[in-house]
Amino acid sequence: NLDEALELIAELPDFPEPGVVFRDLTPLFGDPKAFATVVDALAEAVGDVDQLAAVEARGFVLAAAVAYAKGVGVTLVRKAGKLPSVGGSIDYALEYGTATLELPADAVRPGARVAIIDDILATGGTVAATQSLLAGAGAEVRSVAVVLELASLGGRERLGDVPLHVLKSV
Ligand code: AMP
Repeated sequence: NLDEALELIAELPDFPEPGVVFRDLTPLFGDPKAFATVVDALAEAVGDVDQLAAVEARGFVLAAAVAYAKGVGVTLVRKAGKLPSVGGSIDYALEYGTATLELPADAVRPGARVAIIDDILATGGTVAATQSLLAGAGAEVRSVAVVLELASLGGRERLGDVPLHVLKSV
C-alpha cells in the first residue's frame, strides 16, 4: 500500500551539507510495487489534465511514468544550457545563488491544462519557477503533485491558488 511504499524514502542526515536531511527516493524507485503504487497515486492526484510537466532529474522519472498511466504527454523542463530551442527561461533563487530553468520551444499548446510533477517540495522555488514558465507559454497550470512535502520550508505558500497534492508531508 501507499504508506508502506513511502516508508522506503531514505533519510540521509548532513547531505549535501551539515544540518540538511537529504530525502532519497532511490529505494522507492528501485522497488517495482512501491514505484507503481506511488505513480498510480500521483496519476489520480493530478486530476484531469492534457499534459504533465516535470523538472530534471527525479521529476522526469515520476512524470514519465504518470504520463504513461494517464495517456498524456510530458514536457521536460531543463536546467540551463541543455536545450537547442528554448521557449522560455526563468532565473530563480536557490538557498545559495541562483539557477535557471528552460522550457523547450513549442512544448505546450496555449490553453493546455498542465500538472507539474516533482519528487520533493522544499522551498517551492523550483515548482514556482516552473509554474511561471508554463504560464508564460500560455498553459493553464491546474495542479501540482509531489511525493514528499518538507512542510517546515513553507513551499506551498509560493504556489498561489494552484491545488497542491502531496503523498506525504514531513
Ligand atoms: P525547492 O525548489 O527548494 O522546492 O527544491 C526542490 C528540489 O530540490 C526538488 O526537486 C528536490 O529534488 C530537491 N530537494 C530539495 N530539498 C531536498 C532534500 N531535503 N532532499 C532531497 N532533495 C531535495
